[in-house]
Amino acid sequence: MSEKIYVIGHMNPDTDSICSALAYAEFKNQVDPGNEYIAARMGEMNSETAYVLERFGFSEPVLLEDATGLNIILVDHNEKSQSVEGYDGAQILEVIDHHKINFKCSEPIYYLNEPVGSTATILGDMFLSTAKNIDEGIAGLLLSAILSDTVVFKSATTTEKDWRVAKKMAQLAKINDIKAFGIEVKKAKSSLEGLSANQIIYSDFKDFDFKNSKVGIGQIEVVDSAESEMRRDELLDELNDIRESKDYDLLVLMVTNIMDEGSELLVSGLSNKIEAAFDVEVKDNRVYLDGVMSRKKQIVPLIEGVF
Ligand code: MG
Ligand code: MG
Ligand code: MG
Repeated sequence: MSEKIYVIGHMNPDTDSICSALAYAEFKNQVDPGNEYIAARMGEMNSETAYVLERFGFSEPVLLEDATGLNIILVDHNEKSQSVEGYDGAQILEVIDHHKINFKCSEPIYYLNEPVGSTATILGDMFLSTAKNIDEGIAGLLLSAILSDTVVFKSATTTEKDWRVAKKMAQLAKINDIKAFGIEVKKAKSSLEGLSANQIIYSDFKDFDFKNSKVGIGQIEVVDSAESEMRRDELLDELNDIRESKDYDLLVLMVTNIMDEGSELLVSGLSNKIEAAFDVEVKDNRVYLDGVMSRKKQIVPLIEGVF
């Protein structure tokens, strides 16, 4: 009997989560036509992702609010704290990811994790080796997700494989200048205009549990720091409000400047943990970290290490 299987990325979805869900659902529908694979999402898409979907002619994945009793495939995440409501009551059939693993299962499942720059890199490679055909639009989605997650290859998470798969996808998507296209994608998200401080903080936000301390780390990417500097006090106020109302021990917003290749951290709560993790002084609830662009590689492990 044909089963419905939802392919879904993490909460506060980024371009990699959305594009990987769309691409992997398409891949699975090709290789396993007996079942129906449906791309899904766990929340509102950001403006960068909306730009990418529009550019390549896709509509947004279906919104899944509760996965209880459903068959799901996780892409771009594996941890319960970053996943959909009903995670424990869902049948998780597969995981395709590029993050640290914090996952338990009672039966063997297909679990593919690679230390590469994006989930889309793993999927692009899979399409190239297995799929009958790669649609121009799918190639465009995968290219965009690689560029988004690797911050146009500037992130410390970037590998040779990201480059290789991106070049192939660019050929298929008929994109000639990969880097120029990457900046175009990034610019679609970099404007803070029309967003409240709360929306900015939650636009790409992740929860962590570090030795029973509740830590939240958001990240925004900008191509010009003027706008975020102007709104710094407002963002700090909102961080303080969220920390108090939601009982965080530490709340951080990374404001990553893609052009300068560094991040300013706005910090609410245990700033001594930030000072210990990066050997810096946090002044006026902020500190600039030169060369730091990756939350996953350059922020999370260092903060976790001081808890
Ligand atoms: Mg992601
Ligand atoms: Mg990713
Ligand atoms: Mg990301």
